[in-house]
Amino acid sequence: MSKKINFERLKLGGILPQRQNGDLYSIRLRIVGGQLNSNQLRALADATEKYGSGEIHITSRQGVEISYVPIDYADKMLDELENSGVHQGACGPRVRGIVSCQGNRVCPRGLIDAEYIAGKIDEKYFAKNLPSKFKFAVTGCPASCMKPQENDFGIMGSIEPKWVGENCTFCGLCESTCPTDAIKIEDNTIHIDRDKCNLCGDCISICPTEAWIKANSGYTIYVGGKVGRFPKLAIKLIEMVEEDELFKIIDKTFNFYKENAQPDERFRNTIDRVGFDNYKQSVLTQDHD
Ligand code: SF4
Ligand code: SF4
Ligand code: SF4
Repeated sequence: MSKKINFERLKLGGILPQRQNGDLYSIRLRIVGGQLNSNQLRALADATEKYGSGEIHITSRQGVEISYVPIDYADKMLDELENSGVHQGACGPRVRGIVSCQGNRVCPRGLIDAEYIAGKIDEKYFAKNLPSKFKFAVTGCPASCMKPQENDFGIMGSIEPKWVGENCTFCGLCESTCPTDAIKIEDNTIHIDRDKCNLCGDCISICPTEAWIKANSGYTIYVGGKVGRFPKLAIKLIEMVEEDELFKIIDKTFNFYKENAQPDERFRNTIDRVGFDNYKQSVLTQDHD
């Protein structure tokens, strides 16, 4: 059987040689935030039965891989999947599949539409070439189910509460519920420690009299997280930015990374070598200082 390899596809990545000798490959697919519709699921089932082993592997980043595919069939399988809206994944030094929770479309705690933001990041940046692999995570609230602190660029939904004194009955529910101990009731007033508040909005949802209301909502950004052999938790860059600013910061982050990274250097290592303050200065506008 002659090998018909599409080198453009190989360059993008996602076509991974298996450990078995021969021409078996594991084909990684582009799944955004773990979301698949029924047509895509049927197409994946058909593809693995036709070209693979009949099984599908769910990756640690909500992706899907079809293994045991002979390289001669990889192109044909990818073409068929593309017709059903399932596209080739990425590996190597580029933006990898975007992980996300369902956010406020489904989760009662969701503060943002995490799926929408994940989709927009995928549309703008998926497989963009960078000095090394680059991982995004979008999580709907500070519960952090999608572990934004373990990703190169983590986005978290946030909500800023505002106290409306005239509605308050001083029942104490918000004080006992606040997960960070940021609320104190003293002398018929409420004090909130902004340094402790993690912008979760629990005080708003627990208050029976609407004495806590939403002042603002936005995105908190974490940068430089990674796991692997030398894990490091991300650093909080900024809280409560709006969507436009979020995408400006991503663009500036990529510019900074490309300008400053040594070959193959992970983003966190670039930040540590060049200095977090220098990075911060290059991506935040003066409005944030
Ligand atoms: S991070 Fe928040 S919104 Fe997302 S799944 Fe977890 S609890 Fe729900
Ligand atoms: S839960 Fe509402 S009513 Fe009760 S103390 Fe807090 S703000 Fe006041
Ligand atoms: S938003 Fe969350 S952390 Fe902040 S004061 Fe309210 S309950 Fe506490």
